[in-house]
Amino acid sequence: MHELTITQNILNVALEHARGAGAKKVGRINLVIGEMTGIVSESVQFYFNFIKEGTLAEEASLFFNIVPARFRCRACGTPFELKTDTSCPHCKASDMEVLSGRELFVESIEVD
Ligand SMILES: [Zn+2]
Repeated sequence: MHELTITQNILNVALEHARGAGAKKVGRINLVIGEMTGIVSESVQFYFNFIKEGTLAEEASLFFNIVPARFRCRACGTPFELKTDTSCPHCKASDMEVLSGRELFVESIEVD
């Protein structure tokens, strides 16, 4: 995945927010990341620790809200989480829509 690029974007969003609010520093950044994005939160944290140096977010912490991948069967309407099987657990149809798991955004930023 492109965790470095993503982390850079997260930092940019936080810094813009802090500047817009006239804040001296960023305290906490709450992220929402869907399971299906394949983004590894440990990698984001790892990169963040490097790129935040010398910015308003130098003392900021990241908090990850991981959204599970959920689907709904188009044949019978049953919602389910996809594990190893790639079909509906109720009727075995393989036509499904994604309900959640593709999220990737900054939910909120706390500044001082
Ligand atoms: Zn079904």
